[in-house]
Amino acid sequence: MKIAVLTSGGDAPGMNAAVRAVVRKGIFNNCEVFGVREGFRGILTEDFIPMQLGSVADVIQRGGTILRTARCEEFKTPAGMDKAIANLRRREIDAVIVIGGDGSIRGAQALNDRGILAVAVPGTIDNDIAATEVTIGFDTAVNTACNAIDKIRDTAASHQRLFIIELMGRNSGAIALAAGLAAGAESIIVPELPYDLDEVSRRLEGSRRRGKLHSIILVAEGVASAYEIAAELKKRTNQDNRVIVLGHLQRGGSPTAFDRILASRMASEAVDLVLAGKGGRLVVVQNGRYTHVDISSALAQKAVFDSEAFELAKILSI
Ligand code: ADP
Repeated sequence: MKIAVLTSGGDAPGMNAAVRAVVRKGIFNNCEVFGVREGFRGILTEDFIPMQLGSVADVIQRGGTILRTARCEEFKTPAGMDKAIANLRRREIDAVIVIGGDGSIRGAQALNDRGILAVAVPGTIDNDIAATEVTIGFDTAVNTACNAIDKIRDTAASHQRLFIIELMGRNSGAIALAAGLAAGAESIIVPELPYDLDEVSRRLEGSRRRGKLHSIILVAEGVASAYEIAAELKKRTNQDNRVIVLGHLQRGGSPTAFDRILASRMASEAVDLVLAGKGGRLVVVQNGRYTHVDISSALAQKAVFDSEAFELAKILSI
């Protein structure tokens, strides 16, 4: 069997561990494995590289993706899709394993609908795929954000300052919530819930009265710019503040052991699926177990925000 593997959309720490596991588990099962560079674009430009056991040596601990990634609009067009199918057929590729976020998972579904056995592995720091409890890269991103917040808290406490920190998450406050809970942020502003800056200001005033002179407020990028929030809070509290935008820091770095294990297990499951001829499936973790679901039903599921964790973060940060 010939298997192609690609990483697509936003990169996430742990993608390399997933690619490594596809290559090694595939070869273990007597498959030929090809890496496709730059996501779906590589199928169109025929950027296929034959992978050997050694092609993925020394990558389990590396962030980013050795196959590189891209966003490719052409792949979504009927002509682009025809070209992709023709290129895969000419090379006699039997199956494609796609590692990426929701857009990439849709791309896998599109290939499968056109008769190329395709399976998806959720790789995104946002943890915004409802069908799985966790996605590859989320744990590393949360740890990176938490470490950064801890460092900022040292200087915030020393100078008795208010810091507003912007974290990644366009439509998802998952990183902000998890990092906020882990680092004890005083307020967390996420796109899933309405926010009230008057209430945030009242909380700040309340802590100031109790003698707490430094605070950390987290803002998920999808809500507003941290600079806008800072200006609004300044108007309300008359307290000086500082803004930090963590940005792409949260994407990089060596994956945590958790993400390496998750990536290895999910990718192994993906190889089992293609060997069994089961396409159109998304590998997931449900109730702590590795399993798989139909891509179309997975993508129809709306992400559920963990309001219990959000309420707890509020109570604990008082
Ligand atoms: P992510 O996978 O991180 O969510 P994107 O949403 O940008 O990132 O998707 C990555 C790529 O997946 C797109 O550039 C495109 O090539 C492909 N893709 C996205 N949606 C579809 C779709 N509906 N059909 C086919 N391919 C898609």
